[in-house]
Amino acid sequence: MDTPYSSPASRRRFLKTFGGSLAILPLVQVLGCSRGDPPPAAQAPRSADSPATGSTTPGADMPRLSEDDPAAKALGYRHSTADVDQNAFPRHQADQMCSNCSQYQGASGESWGGCSIFPGKLVNAGGWCNSWVRKA
Ligand code: SF4
Repeated sequence: MDTPYSSPASRRRFLKTFGGSLAILPLVQVLGCSRGDPPPAAQAPRSADSPATGSTTPGADMPRLSEDDPAAKALGYRHSTADVDQNAFPRHQADQMCSNCSQYQGASGESWGGCSIFPGKLVNAGGWCNSWVRKA
C-alpha cells in the first residue's frame, strides 16, 4: 500500500502537496489571536444565594403556610402561639413559638421564615405547631 511515508518519492509528493499549507497553519493561528480583537465579555457569576427576584432573604418569596393546610391542621399549626388549642395540644406552652424552635429557618427579626417541617412554605415567627422543639 502506498502511504505518504512508504517511499522517498511518495514522501516528497506528500510534503510538496500538503507541507506548504501545514507550515503556514501556526502563522495563521498567531495572526488570528493577535489582531487586537477584545476577548469575549466575561459574565458575572450568578450566586446561588441571590434569587432572580432580587430579594436578599433566601426563600422570602415562598407562599405562607395556611392554617387550613391539612399538614398544618394535623400538627395544630397556628400563626400565633396564643391561638393554639390547648386542649388538643396540651404540651404547648405560651413561650413556645416558631422563632425559638429548632426547625425555624427565618432570619432573626423577620416575621416569616422557612420551616423544615413545612418545606416550601413560610411560617410565622410567632406561630407554633406540635413539632416545636426548643432551639439550642
Ligand atoms: Fe413553627 Fe417549629 Fe412548628 Fe416549624 S416545627 S411550624 S418552626 S413550631
